[in-house]
Amino acid sequence: MSRIRARFWDPTGDRHGIPTYPWQMAPPHLLTLRQLATRKLRPGGQGVQAQILWASRRHGAPGVRAAYLYDVRFALPKRIPTSAQLAALAKATAARRTCPECKQDAGYVLPRHLGTCLDCAQERAA
Ligand SMILES: [Zn+2]
Repeated sequence: MSRIRARFWDPTGDRHGIPTYPWQMAPPHLLTLRQLATRKLRPGGQGVQAQILWASRRHGAPGVRAAYLYDVRFALPKRIPTSAQLAALAKATAARRTCPECKQDAGYVLPRHLGTCLDCAQERAA
């Protein structure tokens, strides 16, 4: 193990407060939020269980970056939106697509800077 990796190897959390692993050395049951999401999971009630630390040179200055890990065994399935929630969402989207000038559903969300559909905006400009 390299010196850098040893610095971030702290599975008991003695030095870093929570269990800490170098990049790619965390046990397989610990996942980032993104990894949970790809499995259609969310952390559930649990807080951060562990972290991955690595040295990064991104953004110029070298620094230590962290990714927080959750235990997949405590994770819960992502909430599926109810039909009522989906209907509310569809309504909100429809409102944003309906042109206030010609009252038509433009078929796309109206550009905020125009406030109308493209056809109306063009007519106005002509
Ligand atoms: Zn219009």
